[in-house]
Amino acid sequence: PTVLELHNVTKQYQQQTVPAINQVSLQLRQGELLALLGPSGCGKTTLLRTIAGFENPEKGWIELAKQPVCGQGTTLPPERRDVGIVFQDYALFPHLCVIDNVSFGLKHLGRHRRLPNAQIQTLAQEAISLVGLAGFERRYPHELSGGQQQRVALARALAPRPSLVLLDEPFSNLDVQVRLYLRQEVRSILKGVGASGIFVTHDQQEALAIADRVAVMRAGRIEQLASPEEIYEQP
Ligand code: ADP
Ligand code: ADP
Repeated sequence: PTVLELHNVTKQYQQQTVPAINQVSLQLRQGELLALLGPSGCGKTTLLRTIAGFENPEKGWIELAKQPVCGQGTTLPPERRDVGIVFQDYALFPHLCVIDNVSFGLKHLGRHRRLPNAQIQTLAQEAISLVGLAGFERRYPHELSGGQQQRVALARALAPRPSLVLLDEPFSNLDVQVRLYLRQEVRSILKGVGASGIFVTHDQQEALAIADRVAVMRAGRIEQLASPEEIYEQP
């Protein structure tokens, strides 16, 4: 089944003369991992932010799990989209311990989905176990390594069990060793829960190592969309 579909999506920022993303169409299957690869400024982050609902495109439409989330007369706010997000800089709350960071999003899912506290605790605990941080629930972010902080960010994104996880350069602030290890682990965690994922990266090795398909972006457009093998074979 198709988890995400974008159809001719165009987003232009007000001060800009050219669109940040231009007529982007894309389909993602359930469980599929896609890397968005391309140079700085080509529109990778804008594409993620548009899927997440932080930006509204002028043209085109987006469906998540066959439900329109923008265009076609609909605009769902981010908290009502079935999407988890992991940012480059972890964006953890420094004054909240691990389990409270992970629970935070579950408590703010939007008015239509208020969960009982016991269920919030269970979902948070399961997500923490899933990323290998059982036992760290009461630690604070400053007591964790960079890799552990990024695991917390992943647990927070996964806790509501979204069908799609968006990761914006999730490994770029980590040491090389941790990065190589964690990217394989994140791949297997997403595969394990059957979530689809979109990774932003400007590192071709990283894109080829973690993705089922790679979308190469340039100047707001997807120039090439292919498997890592097909991209490797390019002359
Ligand atoms: P990437 O993630 O590939 O580096 P971005 O999506 O951040 O690319 O940026 C795409 C283009 O949109 C760039 O030209 C950038 O300068 C511009 N842009 C990004 N965010 C904004 C913004 N908030 N306001 C105006 N222009 C922006
Ligand atoms: P336990 O501590 O009970 O072993 P786990 O972390 O293994 O808890 O999770 C229990 C079950 O829930 C496992 O089957 C796991 O794969 C699943 N699970 C945990 N988090 C998610 C998630 N975000 N999406 C889908 N399934 C999940």
